[in-house]
Amino acid sequence: MTDTISAPPPALTSLSEEERLFADSVYEFADREVRPLVREMDEHAAMNKGLLPKIFDLGIMGIEIPEEYGGAGATLFHSVLAVESLSRVDPALGVLVDVQNTLVVNTIVRWANTDIKSRYLPRLANSAVGAFCLSEAGSGSDAFGLTTRAVDAGDHYQLSGRKLWITNGHEADIFIVFATINPEAGYKGITAFVVERGMTGFTVGKKEDKLGIRASSTCELLFDDCIVPKANVLGELGKGYKVAMETLNEGRIGIGAQMLGLAQGAFDHTVKYVKERAQFGKPIGSFQGVQFQIARMAADVEVARVLTYNAARLRDAGLPFLQEAAICKLVTSEIAERVASEAINLFGGNGFVREYPVEKLYRDAKIGQIYEGTSNMQLATIAKHYLG
Ligand SMILES: Cc1cc2nc3c(=O)[nH]c(=O)nc-3n(C[C@H](O)[C@H](O)[C@H](O)COP(=O)(O)OP(=O)(O)OC[C@H]3O[C@@H](n4cnc5c(N)ncnc54)[C@H](O)[C@@H]3O)c2cc1C
Repeated sequence: MTDTISAPPPALTSLSEEERLFADSVYEFADREVRPLVREMDEHAAMNKGLLPKIFDLGIMGIEIPEEYGGAGATLFHSVLAVESLSRVDPALGVLVDVQNTLVVNTIVRWANTDIKSRYLPRLANSAVGAFCLSEAGSGSDAFGLTTRAVDAGDHYQLSGRKLWITNGHEADIFIVFATINPEAGYKGITAFVVERGMTGFTVGKKEDKLGIRASSTCELLFDDCIVPKANVLGELGKGYKVAMETLNEGRIGIGAQMLGLAQGAFDHTVKYVKERAQFGKPIGSFQGVQFQIARMAADVEVARVLTYNAARLRDAGLPFLQEAAICKLVTSEIAERVASEAINLFGGNGFVREYPVEKLYRDAKIGQIYEGTSNMQLATIAKHYLG
């Protein structure tokens, strides 16, 4: 009988040897090269410039770019592993790499023609940071209420308007920008364009001063009759809403990975601390009350990992994943906040001061419930599945 029953699939959380080596190599890099810089980057609200060439050399800026364009030709699951491994050390660097892979590269690989692919993918794989530019002052959750206008001017489009809160705005050279070619058409006017730093009429504006992920730049972008060649229309005219929506559905899994990594990082710090810190003549980790808190944190991290890996593996298998991605982002962002908060509790007074790493993770966790669709927007997606 055993001959006819195939082996059960491995647990979602088991990694192939190649996946394990990849994740370990990214974590080792983060531990060695990034960890010593985290506090300074947070305080100065700036990414260390020397890190950028290193993450390109590591091969994690073009994970899903096909090898013919200079990328790794790997999967979303690999992006998840990279973002998780970096975010264990610094969720700010985690999101830089996440936006590059799950939003920018993903959009171009999936929706661009061969001309755009051959012009931009090799640069994204080797040296250029990208940004994904949808939100505006008046359109966040209601993203398709955007008003940035693209006017047909013969051989080019002229873009006018202002984008807000754009991750990687400070570092990026390549910007995927959503604008409307016909405001009367509502969401059916929205079109995606590839805009380059230096194009006439395009300026990167002020950088936001933030609560968390402070080393990740969040910028305003200004378009003042910005000249964008027609060859830089990404996908079909009027189909930008589909490009944005479907890309963000996948991007959310990357935010799940960021939140998972953050929770794992907070957990790792805490386990080490409770073994070292003594009160009442014993390590605090020997008290059952503390052990139960550690156990709850471990359970939370495991839930975050299962949800994130499941959503990523479904997407890579070409199976439906919308619901799983929304649940993943909703739950992992709550877990990250909870685990980081509990880490502060277990660090006691040391948890509340900047000299120790966990207060930063608590500040960093908050963004998970806001960007790439707030928690309410995830709840709306989940509820729609059942209630229409
Ligand atoms: C650090 C950071 C980085 C970002 N990076 C990017 C980026 O790279 N690219 C980009 O395009 N955008 C980016 N954003 C923007 C981000 O995606 C938006 O802030 C987010 O989608 C929420 O939009 P909003 O801020 O306008 O909030 P609002 O939409 O005004 O929401 C405010 C509150 O109202 C609730 N709400 C709104 N509508 C409903 C509803 N119908 N039902 C129930 N509740 C509702 C929301 O859940 C929220 O709690 C970033 C933002 C931040 C802070």
